[in-house]
Amino acid sequence: MNAASFQERIACVLVRPQHPGNIGAAARAMRTMGLMRLVLVAPQRFPDPEAIALAAGADALLDAAPVHASLDTALAGCTLALGLSARRRGVALPELDPRAGAARAFAHAVAGGQVALLFGNERAGLENDELARCHAMVRIPSVEDFSSLNLAQAVQVMAYELRLCALAQVQGAGAGDADAPAEPPADLAQMEAFFEHLWPALHAIDFHKGRAPFTIERRLRRLFLRARPSLRELRILHGILADAERMAQIARDRAVE
Ligand code: SAH
Repeated sequence: MNAASFQERIACVLVRPQHPGNIGAAARAMRTMGLMRLVLVAPQRFPDPEAIALAAGADALLDAAPVHASLDTALAGCTLALGLSARRRGVALPELDPRAGAARAFAHAVAGGQVALLFGNERAGLENDELARCHAMVRIPSVEDFSSLNLAQAVQVMAYELRLCALAQVQGAGAGDADAPAEPPADLAQMEAFFEHLWPALHAIDFHKGRAPFTIERRLRRLFLRARPSLRELRILHGILADAERMAQIARDRAVE
């Protein structure tokens, strides 16, 4: 994978965008900086003439943009997700500035990974459970008392930083991503399937003991996303969970005997 083809591996994912004009303006912002993959999740109005007008000739990105009903399907195949957010929210995520975020995204894409940059809805931003799917959060360091940029302008900032990375020709597969595992990491859909197995397994072994599972689930999410396990490693973890569930069932059966 060379630096020139990184564009195909970085998608800007607009989650529940409200104004079609912003979709068009985001497409324009991307096109000027050489990014080509726009992905839409549950847009309020799309396709729409306002999107075409604001794209100002970057129609090809709009035509090619897949429209997903949910974020989960949009993230299938993706191995690094960065969530753009003006606010910290209740999610304990590592926080990067746009330069560091772009460097990480670029290095990951050059090394062959699939990157999603997530941008939130104009009014509400990214929800907590959307940010929880991300490996890190990127905050554009705006002023405290007026921190929210227009959606397309936030896309522009990231696209510009990625353009600088491309121009600087960060060389060598894996540059800046030295801790990348030998095998490709499982994608986010595979990680979600693992979490969907982990949560009931924790209940089955009575791990929570009456406490609310919310905080621990968030922490475990962070831990496993940070570890970036391969699919083969995930299969081992699924196997451990299946055995734990089986043993818990045996223990329950014995208790009623
Ligand atoms: N009112 C929302 C902001 C929505 S702006 C809120 O307070 O969260 C639309 C999107 O643009 C955001 O979801 C985010 O993806 C991006 N954005 C705007 N300002 C940003 C900033 N300072 N840093 C990072 N992303 C930002």
